Amino acid sequence: MVTANLILKINQLTKKLNNRSNLNKNLNLGANRKKITSYFLMEKGCCPKCNKKEVISDAEAGEMICGSCGLVLSDRIEESGPERRSFFDKPDRMRTGSRTSLAIHDMGLATIIGPLNKDVSGKPLSPDMTNTIRRIRKWDNQSRHGGRTERNLQQAFTYLNTMKDKLAISNAVIEKAAYLYRKVLEKNLLIGRSISAFMAAALYAACREAETPKTRKEIAKAANVPNRLVGVCYRILVKELDLKIPVVDPVYCIARISSKIGISEKTKRCSIEILRKSEENNISGGKDPMALAASALYLSCVKMNENHSQAKLAEAADLTTVTIRNRCKDLEILKI
Ligand SMILES: [Zn+2]
Repeated sequence: MVTANLILKINQLTKKLNNRSNLNKNLNLGANRKKITSYFLMEKGCCPKCNKKEVISDAEAGEMICGSCGLVLSDRIEESGPERRSFFDKPDRMRTGSRTSLAIHDMGLATIIGPLNKDVSGKPLSPDMTNTIRRIRKWDNQSRHGGRTERNLQQAFTYLNTMKDKLAISNAVIEKAAYLYRKVLEKNLLIGRSISAFMAAALYAACREAETPKTRKEIAKAANVPNRLVGVCYRILVKELDLKIPVVDPVYCIARISSKIGISEKTKRCSIEILRKSEENNISGGKDPMALAASALYLSCVKMNENHSQAKLAEAADLTTVTIRNRCKDLEILKI
């Protein structure tokens, strides 16, 4: 009896499984068919949704859009036209690949030699040629990863890319940071010091130069390096490379803090006015711009009857309430 029951159960189970796999197959087929038709329609040059032949390609955004219903058909079309300028003496504007970048250790100019010992038509190479290719491959590999500098840059730019993703920093700032780091390496300032700390310091300097409001604490946290160490490296960098770093404008900090808490535009304007007045009366000199911005925001919140506590502002600005209270005392002299 028991075995009969078991067999019945097994039969039921296999039936269920079969049904399910059939269902999956059907679903997959459906999806494939849909994909094929839409691709086919796009090949013919009309929209899969409204069947109209009004496809617009936007080369700047890299998108292909239907002109009548607005459906985005493709968001990554390739630029196929000639290069805008020639990089050689002759007027050859052939397109050769992505642009060079300082934030890649070989500036994006690497050669790739395939691992297969076959020629264009797929025939195996002669033993002589195989030996030559093997040797070239070895040299190429060594020139790419062999040098001390190359390896250092590779490691540093891996850190830089991670920080870029974590902090959402623009490409221009990243290029600047890579440039500063290359200078540091050239001047032999790195000997005996941490790569990640110096990369973080270079990124902080680049942010300061480009007036991107990122604090040193944030960058140190993203780089997983103690804040103090980034500070030490930053000071060395500024001194040795003779950088002229502009003072942070507290107005940038206002936008940052208020978008974190959600303060109204009117209050923001009011606090910018307070900051402008404090600058005119020479109160802001030598004070932390973030603290000034936070206290100006607090004062204008009080004035505009917007309910935000000092603690909330302090948390958004990464400060203590004591700092905000002290700066508020300074600003209250203005009698706003
Ligand atoms: Zn359409």
